[in-house]
Amino acid sequence: MATMTVKMPREEPAVSYASRYSLPAEPKDNDTNSNLCSGPVILLSHGDPTGFKPFWRSVGDKCKVTIDSCDFMSYLTDTGTVCWFLEKELEEAIRQLHRTVGNAVTDDRHILVGTGSTQLYHAALYALTSPGGPEPVNVVSAVPYYSSYPEETNFLCSALYKWAGDAYTFDKKEPYIELVTMPNNPDGQVRGPMVNRNDGKLIHDLAYYWPQYTPITAQADYDIMLFTFSKSMGHAGSRIGWAVVKDKDVAIKMTKYIELNSIGVSRESQHRAAKILGAVSDSSQCIGANFFQYGKSLMAERWTKIREVISRSRLFSLPKYMEEYCQFSGEETEPHPAFAWLKCNNDIEDLEIFLRRYKIMGRGGSLFGSDPKHVRVSMLGDEETFNLFLERLSSIQDTITNSNGNGIKFDELERKQIR
Ligand code: PMP
Repeated sequence: MATMTVKMPREEPAVSYASRYSLPAEPKDNDTNSNLCSGPVILLSHGDPTGFKPFWRSVGDKCKVTIDSCDFMSYLTDTGTVCWFLEKELEEAIRQLHRTVGNAVTDDRHILVGTGSTQLYHAALYALTSPGGPEPVNVVSAVPYYSSYPEETNFLCSALYKWAGDAYTFDKKEPYIELVTMPNNPDGQVRGPMVNRNDGKLIHDLAYYWPQYTPITAQADYDIMLFTFSKSMGHAGSRIGWAVVKDKDVAIKMTKYIELNSIGVSRESQHRAAKILGAVSDSSQCIGANFFQYGKSLMAERWTKIREVISRSRLFSLPKYMEEYCQFSGEETEPHPAFAWLKCNNDIEDLEIFLRRYKIMGRGGSLFGSDPKHVRVSMLGDEETFNLFLERLSSIQDTITNSNGNGIKFDELERKQIR
């Protein structure tokens, strides 16, 4: 008798199509007790910098670019520099911007462009490792680290490098690369390298080392520094990042990676980035000082508001930051990080899951190597979403306070009516 093989459908596709960048579905009724929380899902789980949009709208057509159908047709640009696909005008705008802001040394350094600083991170890992080693090189970063590092590092199961976790506890007598994010994503702290051994290599991710987020206290001058158009100016969709690199051989290897990965970087995007970065540095256009002023007051206002809400109860807390002198603005100023690293102080064990029930989507602490009592929420989104978030957070706190103090149990809270 012939036998028939029945293939059982997989419950999950081999590769999940859900991305951390796709919008989450509305929590289902069994995820959230829907009468507790009407209103839209508040998405704060990624740092989409749309909060800066009103400024750029106000600039009108000052940064408009026109691209003809015959423009940018060649793969090649004509820079004569190590990074053969870098637009000269972008290189000049990057160098000028760093001189204007005073946040990084670029003289006698190589400038490389990437499709976001994400691509440059991969390029740097490739450039700092060599085939044929006995083991992949350990990649570490101090907890809480940027949540994408582990996934990005291990995604292709490279034989060159592997994620090795927290730099604070790394004690293997093996080669390593340490990622230093300054100021840090998620908690906004300014920290240096933690392992501090002579055989280590460093990548400094300076995505947030801009005056709207943190006082500029010195010109950064590290071997490999990564910056991004998304967090500096708010233009995440252009996918432009740049690296400032000291060593020529490292710069050549990083360029090789991008050549093999994407044969260069969109010239249209580079053209637009050059226009915008150029305008920010050009004092005659009054955009630069205004942009950073706008960004700083936006962030400062949001931090004042969130601290005010949090201070009304002891349920949540936020990190504290010290004022420092900012060489760019000439003032003593507090950091206003791009993310709020929110901690709950009662018996809620997983703050991400807890907030999700009230349709507040943040990113949970364990993704950053930290504990699940923390959640990272974006401070960079649009005004309406941010205000809605504060309102809902306030309602959660009120409910708990009205229910007799902060010792309330999670389950009890779920039974309360939250607007
Ligand atoms: N580094 C850090 C610390 C970041 O927060 C981000 C963006 N979230 C990136 C790198 C990636 O930036 P890009 O958009 O340029 O790829």
